[in-house]
Amino acid sequence: MKCPVCGAVYRSAMSSALTCRRCKADLSDLIRLHDQAVWYHRQALYLVQHGNYAEAEANNKQALTMYSSNADFHALAGKLRALQGNFADAIASWQQALQLDSQNAIASTAMQMLNSCLNDQYLTEPDQQKKSE
Ligand SMILES: [Zn+2]
Repeated sequence: MKCPVCGAVYRSAMSSALTCRRCKADLSDLIRLHDQAVWYHRQALYLVQHGNYAEAEANNKQALTMYSSNADFHALAGKLRALQGNFADAIASWQQALQLDSQNAIASTAMQMLNSCLNDQYLTEPDQQKKSE
């Protein structure tokens, strides 16, 4: 999470202060909003594990509305869309996650898997043609 005033990275683990360590801006509202967004995201993760994709998506959307620059939120949005068969939107979400965090594990793994699936499909096509001849 970054300070909107000066751009310094805020790490809640480093101190319990609700002000930016660099410019001393009051970040308490932002931190509260971020915490709420994370709570919705965690609800979404729990719902995904129980197969409740529609409610998971609603919760994750709420998280994204509150705080849109968290790569994990976008990564989960992508996963939810893929689970519901919407791969075009899933790819858009994963790309957004990777834009925010190029090391995002969920999004990069998903994109790699998707790419290898598409390659496999492409590679197996000539064999299928041979069989039908
Ligand atoms: Zn600052």
